[in-house]
Amino acid sequence: MTAAAPGADPEGGLVTVRTRGTVVIDVEACKGCDLCIDACRPGVLSMTTNERNTRGYRYPELRPGCTACQACSQICPDFVFQVWKFETPVTETFTLRDGDDEA
Ligand code: SF4
Ligand code: SF4
Repeated sequence: MTAAAPGADPEGGLVTVRTRGTVVIDVEACKGCDLCIDACRPGVLSMTTNERNTRGYRYPELRPGCTACQACSQICPDFVFQVWKFETPVTETFTLRDGDDEA
C-alpha cells in the first residue's frame, strides 16, 4: 500500500491515524449494551451490524486509532476488553466505510 499524507483524503476516502494500542475483545462475553461505543473518545469502536455472538448479541469491533486509554475496559460491565499499549505508536492508513466518522 502506498503511504498517504496524514489526515483525511475526502476524494479517496483514505484516512491516516496514529494508533497507540489495541484491545482484545472477548466477543462471547458481550451482551450488546453499547456502553463502550460512547465511552471511546476517539470513536474507534463500532458495533457489528449483522454479526452476532452465540448468545445473539451484537458486539464491538475495533478500527485503527486506539489510544489505549482504557475507557472501554473501565465502563464495560462484563470485562470484555483487554487493553494493550504499544511501546511505539504506529501509523495506519485505511479506507473509510459507510457510516464511519472521520474524527
Ligand atoms: S482503549 Fe480507549 S481508544 Fe482504545 S478502544 Fe478502548 S476506549 Fe477506544
Ligand atoms: S460495554 Fe461490554 S458488554 Fe456492553 S457492548 Fe461494550 S463490550 Fe459489550
